[in-house]
Amino acid sequence: MHQSSIFILHPSSFHLGLIGYPLGHSLSPRIHTAALQACRLQGDYSLFPIHPDDQQGLKDLLARVRSGEITGLNVTIPHKQNVIPLLDELTPTAQAIGAVNTIYLRDNKLIGHNTDAQGFITDLKRATNSAFCTPHSALVLGAGGSARAVVYALLNDGWNVTIAARRIEQAQQLALSFPNYQLQITNYSSFIFYAKHSSFILLVNATPIGMTPNIDQSPLPENITLSQHTIIYDLVYNPRETKLVKDARAQGLSAATGLGMLIEQAALAFEIWTGHNPPREIMLSSIS
Ligand code: NAP
Repeated sequence: MHQSSIFILHPSSFHLGLIGYPLGHSLSPRIHTAALQACRLQGDYSLFPIHPDDQQGLKDLLARVRSGEITGLNVTIPHKQNVIPLLDELTPTAQAIGAVNTIYLRDNKLIGHNTDAQGFITDLKRATNSAFCTPHSALVLGAGGSARAVVYALLNDGWNVTIAARRIEQAQQLALSFPNYQLQITNYSSFIFYAKHSSFILLVNATPIGMTPNIDQSPLPENITLSQHTIIYDLVYNPRETKLVKDARAQGLSAATGLGMLIEQAALAFEIWTGHNPPREIMLSSIS
């Protein structure tokens, strides 16, 4: 995957920010401000809410990156794909995933990268018992933007991946993005049957099921018993312990929410923009 060791001439003050819509509840300003302070750097992190129809707003903001006024941007829903035609280059990771979450200027070119995949796989290994978490079979629920990054990361790490999606055509599109790999696809409505009769050891929730305010929802029925070796990774991080994770832990399974991935993908972007490797625990404590 893309490494952040590329040479960038770093400014004395870092003007960072996030493009998305809406952005009212974003945790990114707190996380990145903590990183700037921990690394003793001057700078700020602003929110740039740009309406999905406001193409000119997107162009104007990217022009400020090109001019050097803004050092770097994160990108979230609904612009992770919209920005691609406005950039000069994509890193191989962003190209493969088909989505950008980090923008920076290099050699006067606007580059789009994606740190979600590396953020996910790094946190998966950190948060779960890595003795169990060796590449095997994984079942990914959902086929949207984050599922693309998760699937890319797992395939690169040597996992066999099955995608469970309620719209099969969405999963098929995802599979077409990775033509060199054999991806299995199952219908979301029958994934419980699949879960009971297959030997996957990692279940990743890449749907919003269980996210605030629907905190009583889980993709798994309460009465299902999974193998004691199953690892659960829920990309949802709000609430801090989702019902999926709570139920899994009650069964004695290794389980994590996506808070660590959120921190890791932010830290990787921060390192690209500033050249500094920020302390994850300080970034995490800024939102705890
Ligand atoms: P997305 O692009 O909208 O994709 C969501 C996927 O889930 C789609 O395939 C969608 O199917 C499916 N889905 C939604 N509701 C469902 C339901 N009730 N039953 C079955 N499938 C359902 O969203 P995303 O960007 O991938 O985000 C997914 C979740 O991951 C969100 O909660 C987000 O906050 C979280 N996330 C966390 C991180 C992190 O750093 N931890 C990073 C990115 C995302 P349809 O297209 O048919 O609706």
